[in-house]
Amino acid sequence: MLLTKEDLFSMFRFVALLWQQNTLRLSEIDSRFGDGDHGVTIGKMAAMILSRLNERQDESVKDFIKSLGSGCLEIAGGSAGPLYGVLLEGLAGPLSDDDNEINAATLKAMFSSARSALFEITKARVGDKTLMDVLIPATEAAEKAPDDVLSILQAAAAAASLGLQETENQVSKFGRARNYGEKTLGTPDVGAVSTALLFKGFQCGAEEHIPQY
Ligand SMILES: [Mg+2]
Repeated sequence: MLLTKEDLFSMFRFVALLWQQNTLRLSEIDSRFGDGDHGVTIGKMAAMILSRLNERQDESVKDFIKSLGSGCLEIAGGSAGPLYGVLLEGLAGPLSDDDNEINAATLKAMFSSARSALFEITKARVGDKTLMDVLIPATEAAEKAPDDVLSILQAAAAAASLGLQETENQVSKFGRARNYGEKTLGTPDVGAVSTALLFKGFQCGAEEHIPQY
């Protein structure tokens, strides 16, 4: 089973729609220990993805995903733009220009590459209450999943969801939220929420297109 270009478009469309549905919730969570703008930034990224889905259908999968990465990097507003820009550019890293269908091995390599790219720009690791608490377990689960694209996306989304839940039991160590220390217990990390939505969107978007048995 391969992910076609249409599957990929569907995956990013679902991510954008999930992000749009959750902008108010994301800003509410961010307002507790941050500046309350995460939903606004995520909403801008969702709009950018949806417009590029309409405009750039002719590009290769690699160029398309890279263009989403550079689109995020251009979005001002805290750290979310650069983090998601690097994450998406990392995803495109292992693709070659004529890779318009993605197999299990390539999908696993894309997730590993995204994680490596984030490792270059943040020192946050598991337990620090950031999006890395979702990205690291999700991409590791993807690597360990059976060599089937849907199984990989399902394993990643499930691990993302567990990683997100864990952030509620953690004390913030990065960003503005770290100033609130133990008060952050009981609230998930807002970047972890938007990253879990990313993996959920990938899974749901692929399931929409790939028949399940
Ligand atoms: Mg913020």
